[in-house]
Amino acid sequence: MLHFDQLSYWERDQYLIGNTFVIAGAGLVGMSTALSLRERFPKEKIIILERGYLPTGASTKNAGFACFGSPTEIQDDFQHMPSETVWETIALRLQGLELLKNRVGLEALAYQNCGSWDLVKEHDPILESGFLAALNEQFKLRFGLNNVYRQDNQFIEKFGFKGYRTAYFNNYESSIDTGKMIAKLYQLCIEQGIQFLFSTTVQNWKSNTIDVQIETNHGSISGDHLFICTNGFAQSYFPNDLQPARAQVLITKPLHHQVKGLFHSDRGYYYFRDIGPRILLGGGRHLDFISETTTDFEKNDKIRSALIQKLKEEILPDQAFEIDYEWSGIMSVGTEKKPLIRSLNKNVHAGVRMGGMGVAIGSAVGKALSKLV
Ligand SMILES: Cc1cc2nc3c(=O)[nH]c(=O)nc-3n(C[C@H](O)[C@H](O)[C@H](O)COP(=O)(O)OP(=O)(O)OC[C@H]3O[C@@H](n4cnc5c(N)ncnc54)[C@H](O)[C@@H]3O)c2cc1C
Repeated sequence: MLHFDQLSYWERDQYLIGNTFVIAGAGLVGMSTALSLRERFPKEKIIILERGYLPTGASTKNAGFACFGSPTEIQDDFQHMPSETVWETIALRLQGLELLKNRVGLEALAYQNCGSWDLVKEHDPILESGFLAALNEQFKLRFGLNNVYRQDNQFIEKFGFKGYRTAYFNNYESSIDTGKMIAKLYQLCIEQGIQFLFSTTVQNWKSNTIDVQIETNHGSISGDHLFICTNGFAQSYFPNDLQPARAQVLITKPLHHQVKGLFHSDRGYYYFRDIGPRILLGGGRHLDFISETTTDFEKNDKIRSALIQKLKEEILPDQAFEIDYEWSGIMSVGTEKKPLIRSLNKNVHAGVRMGGMGVAIGSAVGKALSKLV
């Protein structure tokens, strides 16, 4: 590959010179940041540097749940975080989803308001009476949403699952097509004159009060501001604040089944949904946290076996199935379950640590980042 020094006058003028905003990472957050910057700065030059030939992290690999929180997960969050932080995070998810829907459009997202079920295993405790009512009251008060959650005891009969005692249904959660979402965001960026250099890895940077010199695998590029949107790959910049977290997913071959919607179980550690006649199932990271703290896109056999067992025993107990696709992606988590949005100095800013809710919060994080300049 050519070094930047070997590029023509035209190429350097077009891509390397005069960039106001340089963004590292072409995932949902990188592209959302670029689009929010464009809204604020219609004439400035914006370029996204992406190390992969495609975005290569989580944004093209996720399960497509447009979700803001299931009751058992929210209850768990209340036990580990101050309650106002829990509500702030839910607010960010709702804002992010609205922004994503308005920006990309429901049709382009293949958005389906199918609802979601938070499944409770036979041996798990059910939520304290009054918890759902209290949640519903807060959602109405804070966000104007009516009757978000209700208990559903009909779901086993409806879907044919085994091993669950009850479920909490959320009327507002929806599914999207992840590939279509990213393709449309890319198209919007191009329409807005945002440029991309793929297969370009940001290796280092030096900033002064005027600009930032960014070292890549092809040479140096400068900008007035650099935005770090590399999520699970940003640990070297924030060793105390975040860790990579691998997540694994598989999809069956087409089946005859009655499953339609989004499902969470084990306080969100497993999730599954229909993809037309197929089932997508992911999760199980809690079975091997240490191995899964990695940026390596491998598969974990222990987790794979647990996913297959879950399909056999709980989700498709009366039906043979075969696996058609499997992959892993890299997320980012930390001790705090909220994104890290921060200026490192006058010219360098970061929006990372999206956890398992990046589809929901990613657009809002991009907007918040664009306001740091
Ligand atoms: C299997 C799986 C299922 C998930 N399911 C859901 C879901 O259903 N709902 C939900 O809300 N969230 C889900 N998530 C989480 C969600 O996908 C992420 O939170 C979100 O995509 C993060 O977006 P991002 O842009 O911050 O990061 P990424 O999409 O990871 O983007 C970061 C980009 O930076 C690039 N990069 C890294 N280092 C460099 C460098 N040095 N120079 C240049 N480029 C670099 C990477 O190649 C990557 O393209 C899931 C994640 C996974 C892995």
